[in-house]
Amino acid sequence: MKSRIRIHDKEFEIFLTEEQIEKRVSELADEINRDYQNKKPLFISILNGSFIFSADLFRQLNIEAEICFIKLVSYKGMKSSGKVTTSIGLEEDIYDREVIILEDIVDTGRTLHEFIPKLLHQQPRSIKIAALLHKAEVTEFPVHPDYVGFTIPDKFVVGYGLDYDGLGRNLKAIFQVTT
Ligand code: 5GP
Repeated sequence: MKSRIRIHDKEFEIFLTEEQIEKRVSELADEINRDYQNKKPLFISILNGSFIFSADLFRQLNIEAEICFIKLVSYKGMKSSGKVTTSIGLEEDIYDREVIILEDIVDTGRTLHEFIPKLLHQQPRSIKIAALLHKAEVTEFPVHPDYVGFTIPDKFVVGYGLDYDGLGRNLKAIFQVTT
């Protein structure tokens, strides 16, 4: 695996290896397996960025669980657009369900801050958040992920589902911008 890559106009260097990610995702799955025995949680995976994290985590579960996918955010280039749009709706009935939101990264927290009240209208029994990455120092909205893979600094990252203008999602490791 190369330690430095270029995508479009930017240079990136390796930040989290495939092995580090795999180990941490297993640990998160272990915690969820313990916490959700006999609760049949419904995972809501937020597309696009969470698809790889969601698939890897979900495969490690040994409890009864369901998963669905929803698309909410338009994120252009390297700055959060701040515009949340639902383009694939939630069809599952979440009334009285134990919901776990799967998010690739919580940055400002705006996305989940806007989305969670919409879910609460449907009166789920509980809502928790599992985020692979958390830029905790820049989270300005009151969003507190319950399961966090890695707390990371405020630098743009790609790979393992996360893109830079469409590219980089297929990288097995996570890379951080160097400039
Ligand atoms: P928030 O609403 O918390 O500010 O941002 C959440 C969304 O912004 C994430 O789901 C992700 O799509 C995008 N995002 C935030 N930081 C990064 C980053 O460093 N890299 C990439 N590729 N996307 C990011």
